[in-house]
Amino acid sequence: MLVCDGLGDRPSVDGTTPLQAAYTPNLDKLSESGINGLLDVIAPGIVPGSDTAHLALFGYDPYQYYPGRGVFEALGADMELHKGDVAFRANFATVDENMRVLDRRAGRKGSNELADVLNGLEIDGIKISLRNTTQHRCAMVLKGEQLSRYVSDVDSHEAGDFVQECKPLHDGEAERKTAAIVNKFVKKSYELLNDHPVNAERRAKKELPANIILLRGAGTFEEIISLKERFGFSAACVAGASLYKGVAKYLGMDVLPVEGATGKGDTNLRNKAGAALHALEEHDFVFIHVKDTDNSGHDGNFEAKKRIIERVDEELVARLKDADAYLAVTGDHSTPVTLKRHCSDPVPLLIKGAGVRTDGVKNFNEFAVASGGLCRIRGVDLMPMLADYMGYYVMYGT
Ligand SMILES: [Zn+2]
Repeated sequence: MLVCDGLGDRPSVDGTTPLQAAYTPNLDKLSESGINGLLDVIAPGIVPGSDTAHLALFGYDPYQYYPGRGVFEALGADMELHKGDVAFRANFATVDENMRVLDRRAGRKGSNELADVLNGLEIDGIKISLRNTTQHRCAMVLKGEQLSRYVSDVDSHEAGDFVQECKPLHDGEAERKTAAIVNKFVKKSYELLNDHPVNAERRAKKELPANIILLRGAGTFEEIISLKERFGFSAACVAGASLYKGVAKYLGMDVLPVEGATGKGDTNLRNKAGAALHALEEHDFVFIHVKDTDNSGHDGNFEAKKRIIERVDEELVARLKDADAYLAVTGDHSTPVTLKRHCSDPVPLLIKGAGVRTDGVKNFNEFAVASGGLCRIRGVDLMPMLADYMGYYVMYGT
C-alpha cells in the first residue's frame, strides 16, 4: 500500500490539480489495469489528521483506536511505552524572561545534549523521558501511576504569546495531577536550559537559545489488537517521518530502516522502492509512505507537488508495478495547494493485482477515478478488501 500524504487536491493552475498536471505514465497504467475510486478516509466532511487517517487506512476506526498524537511520536522516536504511560509531542522553543514565546521552534534547531539534561528527571514520583528527534522536535513520556492524556497543550502555536498553562480537560484526580506535573516540567526545563553552556554558545553565535520545552498532543499508550491478530498477515513499514513509523509500530508492523528516507523533498524514493520489494520477501504486507506531497500542499506550491508526484511515479511506482503483489495507491487526505491545509475532499484510490476487476479508468487522478468500479468508499473498508484479495479473508456466516 503506497500512501502519498495529502495527495488529493483541487483544480488551480490551468484548471488542473497537481496530480492531473503531473506526467505519471506508471500510475496511469496501474489505473487502467486495476480498479479505481474515491476514498473518504474517515467519513464525508470529516477533515482527517494524518494520524487518525492512517489508522483508518489500516482498518482501525480512529474514533475507537486513536490514542493521541504523542503516542505515535514517542513510538516513532523508538521510545519504550507501557500501558498507562502518557506521551507528548514536544519541541524546543525560545522564550524571554517573562515567558513570552520568541520562537516556538528555537530557530528549528534542537540539541541532544540539552535533551539529555531533562531526560530522566523525576517530578512527584513520575519519571520523565525526553528525546530530541529531528531539528527542534522531541517526544516526551511520563511514566507512573494515575496519569491522564486529557490535559491541554502548553504550546500556543503562535510566537508572541506567553507560554500557556497546562490545564486538566476533565475534573479528575489524574488530569489535575498530570497538568501539575507538566507545568512543573515546563518551568524546570527553562531553569535548567536557559543558562546551559550550549545556549551560551548559541547566543554567542547570534542563534536563538533552546531554553524551554513546549508540549502538546498528549496521548495514552495501551496495547491494541495488532494487524497480524486482526487480519492474519505480517506487515512492514517503509517511511521516513517519525509519525508514520509510530503508527506502524502501534499496529505491530516491523519498521524497516531505509537509508536516505527523510520524510522531506530530498527523500530517496529509489531506496524506498528497493526496501519495499525486499520487505515483500519476508512480509505479506508493506506500507510505503511519502510525505512531501503533503508538505508541498501546505506550502501552497503547485509545482513542487506536481514534481514530487512525478518522482513517485518514476522512482517508486515504476519499480513496484511489476512486483508479484497487489498494489493499492492512495492518499491519507487532501491538502490542496489553494487551501494550504487538510480538507475533507475524498482522495483517489487504485488497486491492481491478480483477479482485480477493471473499470475503464485510464488516468489516476481525482476526477478520472470517480467513474471507477470502487465508486466512493470509506478508509476503514480498504484493508478488509485488500485482505480478501490476499487470501486472508474471514467469512461471515457459513
Ligand atoms: Zn497526512
